[in-house]
Amino acid sequence: MPTASPSTETASAEETEALAAGLAGTLAPGDVVLVSGDLGAGKTTFVRGAARALGVRVPVTSPTFTIARRYEDGRVPVSHLDLFRLAEGLEDEEPELLDDELAPDRVAFVEWPEVAGGGLPGLHHVAARVHLEHLGGDRRRVTIETA
Ligand code: ADP
Ligand code: MG
Repeated sequence: MPTASPSTETASAEETEALAAGLAGTLAPGDVVLVSGDLGAGKTTFVRGAARALGVRVPVTSPTFTIARRYEDGRVPVSHLDLFRLAEGLEDEEPELLDDELAPDRVAFVEWPEVAGGGLPGLHHVAARVHLEHLGGDRRRVTIETA
């Protein structure tokens, strides 16, 4: 059951990353975080801040053209999925690929989760839903709903 839905305004990418770091501190292996919002709203920026806080040191970049990236150099293995490209249609083997990313030993962040609808494996492990909205310029509204 959602217990909180706090909404915060940020004025820079750094502020959004700091919010993400705060959420990251509450995450455990097996947790899935869904990150929604329009193009450029800051989804990848949010994931970058969370991944950094989980100890990932290598650059965190958008996985749009690969669907998933894995980061193994942090305190917990991290998967970063961007399902935007799945809107064009899932190949037969891709659902299994996603299964591996949303594994019990990893923390996973999923951009464009709505593209998968209910078909995303592991969705019962959703720990938080993050929504980002443009407020003009560098301002964003960031809503974090924890499970
Ligand atoms: P998305 O993954 O949602 O398409 P990105 O995180 O890739 O978005 O891009 C967001 C862009 O907006 C980045 O260039 C980032 O530096 C910029 N930006 C400016 N202000 C903010 C803010 N308050 N929060 C997040 N990103 C911001
Ligand atoms: Mg992105």
